[in-house]
Amino acid sequence: MAEQTTRMKTVCIIGGGLGGLMTGALLTKEGYRVTVLEKNGNIGGGLQGFSRKGHLFDPCMHVFGGLQPGGNLRAILQHLGILDKIKLEPYHDTLVCGDERLTLPFGRDAWIDAIGGGKHNEELNAYVDALYRLSDSEDLFNMRPSNGAPHEVENISAKELIERHISDHDLRQRLTFILHLYDGRPDSPALLHALTSVLHIDGIYSFVSSAQTMAQALADIITAGGGCIHTGSPVTAIEADGKQVTAVLCGNERHTADQYVGSISIGALLNIAPKGAFSPAFRNRIKSAEQCCSAFCIYAILKPQTMKQENASYHILRRGANPWDMATTQPDQWPHNMFLMTRSDRGDKRYADTMTIVVPMTFESVRPWEDSTLGHRPAEYRQWKEQMTAQAMHMAQEALGPIETEYIEAASPLTVRDYNGTTHGTCYGLHTSVDNLAYTTLSTRTRMENLFLAGQDVNFHGMVGTSLTAVLTAETIVGRNVIVDQINRERKQTILTIWKLLK
Ligand SMILES: Cc1cc2nc3c(=O)[nH]c(=O)nc-3n(C[C@H](O)[C@H](O)[C@H](O)COP(=O)(O)OP(=O)(O)OC[C@H]3O[C@@H](n4cnc5c(N)ncnc54)[C@H](O)[C@@H]3O)c2cc1C
Repeated sequence: MAEQTTRMKTVCIIGGGLGGLMTGALLTKEGYRVTVLEKNGNIGGGLQGFSRKGHLFDPCMHVFGGLQPGGNLRAILQHLGILDKIKLEPYHDTLVCGDERLTLPFGRDAWIDAIGGGKHNEELNAYVDALYRLSDSEDLFNMRPSNGAPHEVENISAKELIERHISDHDLRQRLTFILHLYDGRPDSPALLHALTSVLHIDGIYSFVSSAQTMAQALADIITAGGGCIHTGSPVTAIEADGKQVTAVLCGNERHTADQYVGSISIGALLNIAPKGAFSPAFRNRIKSAEQCCSAFCIYAILKPQTMKQENASYHILRRGANPWDMATTQPDQWPHNMFLMTRSDRGDKRYADTMTIVVPMTFESVRPWEDSTLGHRPAEYRQWKEQMTAQAMHMAQEALGPIETEYIEAASPLTVRDYNGTTHGTCYGLHTSVDNLAYTTLSTRTRMENLFLAGQDVNFHGMVGTSLTAVLTAETIVGRNVIVDQINRERKQTILTIWKLLK
């Protein structure tokens, strides 16, 4: 009896990416012993870094917001006690289109002045008001306790939002620089556009060395709390008895816990989940759901001292290209746009040493080789990759001038699919549509009483979205607002301490 009352509650998490590790760290803080099962040899999923010739690259986590004083991500990292363990530096969105180059400062007023070039302030003010109003409708985004009921927001698309407020054609184009960060399409919800835009207006950051530092910091919380992380452990099946999950299987290994969290792509989870966990209608809905596009990525080591280091998050748009069709499937028109960033890591901070380019690309482009696996792709695929690399590098050089590389490597949607285990190598999970919002957002609960969902498919993707969903998932297990209330108490305490010090 005594043993029963003191036994730690346990949770088993499938997927050791940001969603799984963040949910695990939050639950560890709530007294759970957490086991994370990760299919890859490394933890991190989208937080995973890799090294080439002594240089570190981040394939899936480049820039993100929420870190300004009072920001949602900052509050979560502070709550977990790891803010000072992760080295971050500010990056500035820099829009490049033809000869135009525009660097956007942080903060609402300065941002408006810069993006409008000192003109259109009235229209821009109304537009940015609308962005903040929309983002304010999300309790968790603002770290407010919630009663679980969604706030009413006008159901319009991102495109309609821009066109409603902005009359100038060029300014409309400029405001679409953000689209590739959520795979914006004509039917993407204004809310998604607003959340992404507000994060960027408030300020974006990148890791000084690698996103892997964050994966490690989260993993350390879990292991320090008595939990464990198993890498090289793909979950192949989930066993259930009635409405209870009883175990998850990694080949011959069986892991049991009180609660279970699936933090992998929902499509992959359906393949291993017991029949009763999801209704046939839900399964059909997910099968027919559209995915956000994938990406073609280039990782380059630059010749020493050939390019100045700017902490810039470049958004390069081909002049005349349709920004609402970023992942164009027309090979001769590809790329329409790209994200590009550089890092300095050889010691002389004035110069860039590595470059990462991310170009939206649909899975259709790699369909001919979809049955191939990592390390076993045919020669034809490799030739195609070289051609795509040349096209992307050509566009980057047109925008930024000559780029001298020492080493260059590319990854396609097949690489993203096979490393992250996502459907069609999607960057941001399920595509959400304003025409069918309820259909394209998921609950953290399943039909199983002790199986919950986390990860980017549930709500909102990216560093901030997936971290906020982790709070939601953990609160589904420990109780509504339990973590948000703690975070707010901690914030008040910090303000009080600073106030006392200043007095
Ligand atoms: C090219 C690219 C660039 C991006 N850039 C940014 C950016 O700059 N900023 C930003 O905020 N977001 C960015 N994102 C999005 C961001 O990476 C994701 O939203 C985030 O990493 C999602 O986290 P997750 O935990 O849901 O999924 P993941 O990080 O993919 O984690 C899922 C984990 O589950 C594991 N897994 C899968 N199947 C199994 C199984 N059967 N058993 C065990 N483990 C399994 C996978 O190996 C993986 O580690 C980018 C994404 C891509 C692809």
